[in-house]
Amino acid sequence: MTDPLHTIEHGFCDPLQDKPNLLGLSMPRLVEFMQTLGEKPFRARQLMKWMHHRGILDFEAMTDISKVLRQRLARAAVIEIPEVVHEHVSADGTRKWAIRLRGGSMVETVLIPEGQRATLCVSSQIGCSLDCSFCSTGKQGYQRDLDAGEIVAQIWLANHALGVYREGGKRQITNVVMMGMGEPLMNFDNVVDAANLMMDDMAYGLSKRRVTLSTSGVVPAIEKLIGKTDVSLAISLHAPNDRLRNELVPINRKYPIAELLRATRRYMENLPDNSRVVVIEYTLIDGVNDLDQHAHEMVALLRDVPCKINLIPYNPFPLSDYKRPSSNRVDRFKRILLQAGYIATVRSTRGDDIDAACGQLVGRVVDRTRRNERYRTRQQSNDSIIKAVT
Ligand code: SAH
Ligand code: SF4
Repeated sequence: MTDPLHTIEHGFCDPLQDKPNLLGLSMPRLVEFMQTLGEKPFRARQLMKWMHHRGILDFEAMTDISKVLRQRLARAAVIEIPEVVHEHVSADGTRKWAIRLRGGSMVETVLIPEGQRATLCVSSQIGCSLDCSFCSTGKQGYQRDLDAGEIVAQIWLANHALGVYREGGKRQITNVVMMGMGEPLMNFDNVVDAANLMMDDMAYGLSKRRVTLSTSGVVPAIEKLIGKTDVSLAISLHAPNDRLRNELVPINRKYPIAELLRATRRYMENLPDNSRVVVIEYTLIDGVNDLDQHAHEMVALLRDVPCKINLIPYNPFPLSDYKRPSSNRVDRFKRILLQAGYIATVRSTRGDDIDAACGQLVGRVVDRTRRNERYRTRQQSNDSIIKAVT
């Protein structure tokens, strides 16, 4: 079922005003901002609760803040939420929102309900520059980074759509994975601020074990994470040796597997709790990286890495010749890992009828949008509008 439900309009603030968007400010940054207005830190906590707990975006409605301060805030800042243009609901309950950001670019966010859990898959960039050979986001090139407010807004919008901010609404999102469009570590500061907000009790209060940053292996950025956040980590490995990984994940040519695993171990060792393990993601592609020998190589490679292995059967998309392996092949690969003592799971394909499965984001909705972009570009002769990618 592919069914655009409705269009939600949220007052979009004038981007030309150049005021800070308070939605993306972590607690220390919001405290700093309030100090520039001569206000005490507890004002920052009040604001955080209004925005993130209660979903209130209008300063005027923040009734425990004095009228004078509300007016000063409205002059000095904005609380900006992008617009949801389409909501798609899959037959399996997966929901995908296409969100239009400032400047007209589109990004996608996916919610995957699973029993008591609801996992939100958020995007951190429009497109991606790293061009992994099996990823449709990579194929559209890089357009721009999301700012912290735009990343956090994806949770706010999902909460809003789920009725969390209505009277008596309950928190529903239990997990966030940064596995949507983009490479989070190529957008370091914004992603770290957004992740910290997700885990801050004054904002979304998610458990550190349940906010996961997935990276294809930007090694210096993994090292830089140490001490700045304690978000959980997933590494997109996809191959057990450099020769194959160089082909599938081009950033491996710069930061080979040994360096990547070293940095990963260091990050994990520096977390305050030492019981966490890294998730190793491995997209299985028929005849490419799914042979028994690859599974045996993985067994040897990961011997010293406390990890769980998450196998992702390749999700096909147009423009790619790769194929998804049979379920027998996937099971066989998994069994080899299990027999060697690893925890290995197969990620179930969710929402593929609405192009919401891994690597399928930016499907039809954005193709249409790009045509709109080209149209608008012609209409407005506006150079800043994103370049159409063919
Ligand atoms: N850039 C980050 C996060 C986004 S991709 C990263 O690469 O980790 C999220 C996961 O989906 C990654 O493990 C990625 O390799 C995987 N993926 C991308 N395209 C896919 C496809 N077509 N089929 C299955 N998994 C895919
Ligand atoms: Fe970028 Fe991740 Fe896709 Fe690679 S898999 S192109 S890093 S989004």
